[in-house]
Amino acid sequence: MSVNLRQEEVQLESKKRLIALQRAKELRSRIDGYLKNKANIPSGFEVQEAYQQAKHKLLQVLQATEDQWHDWHWQMANRISDVTVISQLLNLDAAELQAVQRVGRQYRWAVSPYYMALAMAGGINGPVWRQAVPSIEEVQDRSGLEDPMGEEFTSPAPAVTRRYPDRLIINVTNQCAMYCRHCQRRRNIGELDLHKPRKILEAALQYVRENKEIRDVLITGGDALLLSDKQLDWLLSQLDQIPHVEIKRIGTRTPVTLPQRITPELCAVLEKYPPIYINTQFNHPLEVTPEAKKACDMLIKAGVVLGNQAVLLKDINNDPDVMKRLNHKLLQIRVRPYYIFHAKAVKGTRHFITGVNDGINIMEQLRGYTSGLAVPTYIINAPNGYGKTPVLPQYIVENHNTHVTLRTWEKRIIPYNVKCKQ
Ligand SMILES: *Cc1c(COP(=O)(O)O)cnc(C)c1O
Repeated sequence: MSVNLRQEEVQLESKKRLIALQRAKELRSRIDGYLKNKANIPSGFEVQEAYQQAKHKLLQVLQATEDQWHDWHWQMANRISDVTVISQLLNLDAAELQAVQRVGRQYRWAVSPYYMALAMAGGINGPVWRQAVPSIEEVQDRSGLEDPMGEEFTSPAPAVTRRYPDRLIINVTNQCAMYCRHCQRRRNIGELDLHKPRKILEAALQYVRENKEIRDVLITGGDALLLSDKQLDWLLSQLDQIPHVEIKRIGTRTPVTLPQRITPELCAVLEKYPPIYINTQFNHPLEVTPEAKKACDMLIKAGVVLGNQAVLLKDINNDPDVMKRLNHKLLQIRVRPYYIFHAKAVKGTRHFITGVNDGINIMEQLRGYTSGLAVPTYIINAPNGYGKTPVLPQYIVENHNTHVTLRTWEKRIIPYNVKCKQ
């Protein structure tokens, strides 16, 4: 009797195992396409040879040393914003150079040598190049607004942007290490690098002090980490002394465009004022390089928590496999994907703008297919400063409160009864 029972148990177990094996095979097949395509989407780690070549070419043209390359002040002082330098670096035809020059007169451009080397490694008109080097399409764009977010009407105090109940932005500079061609704040860039004067920052701090519901202050720009260590030290210490400011955040693209900025001295400043959250903007796996990793490692050692705000950009990352690889590479360097922003119709950036379905499709192909940690929130910024609005694929196809119909990540339609007290 007991022997028979035992046999039945064994048979049942192996039947369960067979079903699980079958399911595992099916699950593996869900990412067949991605696994095949992955090799076509190199990260910055996989283009090191080309990067090193480009770097040496740049050092030659700029007559500089390896030590200077690692000095962020040198990187800033030698930002490329002149077509004659580009013509020494690469064989571009005259028409292309002329286009860069012409657009550059209307919209400022400047690229750190580091990011230019990466752009060269990723190829002319590749995903890094297109973020950095002016394109004729910028001046052909007659649509779009200068300020679609209506930021001009959401500034209750100097240098402050407030669109939410408990948090706000202090805008500290218009300077960047690289002027993104897709910049949403191009109207602020102008031709001159301007850090906000101390008096303006004092007024912004006073607003924070007087409004006790502000528990989260985001220092951004421009690029907040282009302030000097001393200025940052002062600003962070001021915020640290305001009892109701629970967290401080910094917006910067330097881990991507100028990782040399992350120095031991800067980290010593950041370490003094926890908790600090830094959000950066990696848009493509090519930007995840050994230098970027080192910068992130240093920030993490200083106790900073890192997140990423990618911008959805046509022909750069509006592809589920590219976004998946990007988010995987980010998790490897301990940067948590936070947002994917839908690019707004800012004048001069129309060639980067995609349909909302591209974003929804990306979200659809992340959730379930990969770690929840690799799934950011897709955001459309509502016009007139009415705020970030999350956009999701539809996972509830019917909702009757006590019974709903779910649509799972694999598109299975499943009724679900909620056992709640009515
Ligand atoms: C984006 C933004 C914030 C921060 O928003 P989170 O969703 O909390 O990251 C705060 N203030 C303004 C004005 C913003 O645009």
